[in-house]
Amino acid sequence: MCGIVAYVGEKDAYSLILKGLKRLEYRGYDSSGIALLEDGELNVYKKRGKVADLESQHAGKALKSTIGIGHTRWATHGEPNDVNAHPHYSNNRKLAIIHNGIIENYASIKQNLIKKGHVFQSETDTEVLIHFIEDIQHEAGNSLEDAVKLALREVVGAYAIVVMSVDHPGQLIAARKGSPLVIGIGENEFFFASDATPIIEYTKDVVYLDDYEVALVRDGKLTIQNLDNTETIPYIQTLEMELETIEKGGYDHFMIKEIFEQPRSIADSMRGRLNASEGHLQLGGLSGYMDDLVKAERIVIVGCGTSWHAGLVAEYLFEELARVNVEVEYASEFRYRNPVITEKDVVIAISQSGETADTLAAIELAKSKGATIFGICNVVGSSIARASHAGAYTHAGPEIGVASTKAFTAQVTVLTLMAIAVAKKKGTISDETYRHLLYEMENIPALVEKVFENATKIKEIAYIYKDSNNCLYLGRGFNYPVALEGALKLKEISYIHAEGYPAAEMKHGPIALIDEDMPVVFLATKDSSYEKIVSNIQEVKARKGRVIAIVTEGDTLIPSMVDFVIEVPEALEILTPLLSVIPLQLLSYYVAVMRGRNVDQPRNLAKSVTVE
Ligand code: GLU
Repeated sequence: MCGIVAYVGEKDAYSLILKGLKRLEYRGYDSSGIALLEDGELNVYKKRGKVADLESQHAGKALKSTIGIGHTRWATHGEPNDVNAHPHYSNNRKLAIIHNGIIENYASIKQNLIKKGHVFQSETDTEVLIHFIEDIQHEAGNSLEDAVKLALREVVGAYAIVVMSVDHPGQLIAARKGSPLVIGIGENEFFFASDATPIIEYTKDVVYLDDYEVALVRDGKLTIQNLDNTETIPYIQTLEMELETIEKGGYDHFMIKEIFEQPRSIADSMRGRLNASEGHLQLGGLSGYMDDLVKAERIVIVGCGTSWHAGLVAEYLFEELARVNVEVEYASEFRYRNPVITEKDVVIAISQSGETADTLAAIELAKSKGATIFGICNVVGSSIARASHAGAYTHAGPEIGVASTKAFTAQVTVLTLMAIAVAKKKGTISDETYRHLLYEMENIPALVEKVFENATKIKEIAYIYKDSNNCLYLGRGFNYPVALEGALKLKEISYIHAEGYPAAEMKHGPIALIDEDMPVVFLATKDSSYEKIVSNIQEVKARKGRVIAIVTEGDTLIPSMVDFVIEVPEALEILTPLLSVIPLQLLSYYVAVMRGRNVDQPRNLAKSVTVE
């Protein structure tokens, strides 16, 4: 959550940081701000609202500086307003800070500082941290970098911070624990950001800061030390991301661009891993740990939100193909229980950003009990990728729309490949089934492309249902997690109340909601529970519910019973989620646009949930 951008070099810092903040706005967008060093003065400009609001407030002003820090906030402490926006000054206004995360013990530190005469402007935990740094600097005559380290040793919580000082022009100090921070290295210039998107157009050489590391840029030189002062040699990596992948490319929103990218992103997540004609399937990131997966007595899958839904699909996949016991847990619940985990367990952690705080904490807990951890992440070099023993990147490319679409299908793709690979190694599927599955997987991107032929029809259906206040999504088997995902997508971006249920559960409660005003979306593709779902549709129709059904191409029975149908091509039952979720993504998108919602930045949400 929240986006951080900082720059020191020879370019105009204000416009560069502003552009970077716009790229990071998907991470948080309730307020934003920039601090600049202008003619020996440390000036802070900040504003409630979008980065564009900050920009228009200062349009036409000559803000000239070659060093600065910027932030787009997702409020945790204090409402989103001008005062609580970052950057924050220290007490003497000589230091400024931007921060992503939460300082959990801020209240006690604040009380001490108030006793010493510090006056606070905001309600944030962040302002307390910069006052604390100033206090330590002055108390013991410490250098600024030592004061930062000493303060961070006292702090409980998560942070990515960048600090600048009016007394040290040309110097930036950054640190992280639990929240991401990447450093871009250009010619006579350095960039700091929450992810690489603000950096990529200037340099592809980056260093990912590790937890408890403090980076200092001074006199055009970067040094990295741990909190205990040991120096580490920066490991410079080359980014593979291209600029066009983080731009809208002619679409109105990132979300719709990302939905339509799915044939490519699914293919990318299989690239180099699968070759059906050669019978080849290998996930490089699993090698060395494949035996753990094959021998696992139990697989526990942890994730949050859409990733949790991908985990549910994986439960069905692993049980069906690899005959292994699977449990799927909300990471946030798992970590606060006292889960029974042993060295015989395998934990698969799923997270688009690879920074999800609850999932990361769940990994650490499982690791401490001896489990082997597999990470499934989209962002290369992310914290979860680094905290896992093994894993696979989803390679969906940057996902910028806050509502996840292509990351979900990429997660399901990678998990399907994993399940097939484990099943083959365990001998729970025949060679023939194995070959057949590989061919069917290879064909999925082409089938997804076919679903898009229905886009206009889906838009028409969206128009009819756009004013609904509620919506029910029902599915069985492999389509049950898809029903949950469809409901989540609709609520996230349209703010319509939506519920997903296993279709048979409807009788045990939700059926009371059905009347002529209740749209019910049925996932009703031709699979092993087809007859059962037909009965469930009849139960809804008998109560005058309005049914939209996702059906298999060529089905004639269900279309004769329901109000609207959307066809998806025929596929193996276990691969159905990759197709049946697509119309639901489109339906949510069109409804949200028609309701005038900010699709890419829905209210109260942020992309990468780095707080608990
Ligand atoms: N906890 C800080 C605040 O509420 C930072 C939140 C963020 O990561 O944007 O201001």
